[in-house]
Amino acid sequence: MATLDEIGEQDDWMCWLCDKPVDPDASVNDGRGPSVDSRITKKKAKKKVREMPERLAHRDCNTGKGNSEAVVAWADHLFVVDPAVILTTVDRLAKKNGREAVGRCPTRDDAEEAGAWLLDRLQRLEPTVTFETAIEPGGGQFLLLLKT
Ligand SMILES: [Zn+2]
Repeated sequence: MATLDEIGEQDDWMCWLCDKPVDPDASVNDGRGPSVDSRITKKKAKKKVREMPERLAHRDCNTGKGNSEAVVAWADHLFVVDPAVILTTVDRLAKKNGREAVGRCPTRDDAEEAGAWLLDRLQRLEPTVTFETAIEPGGGQFLLLLKT
């Protein structure tokens, strides 16, 4: 098992769930302090989908400390209709390459902004997988696709 410091270095002292910095010097008993999250949600614990690496999380964000399900939120400023559940989509694509729609946007600019945000977010969420986005117009909207 890796130490807290090693996992902190690996994740650049950013919380894998809320994507905000974790203070390495904060007390591990502090809610905003560092903790190691085994990255296993209830569903995955039952199914044992794939080996989940340990990740750095704030103590309050850690899924092993009372929060039952890990949730990675879309940023508030994005305009995405029917946004996909990020973790579920990413886990599926990481397991089996392919492409999936992750949301619909009213304009191409919205889709490009959401796609750029998502790729940046995924660099930290799933650093071992290379993702790409694509935008497909249709029905007066723009479909945002995530590909591996
Ligand atoms: Zn956090």
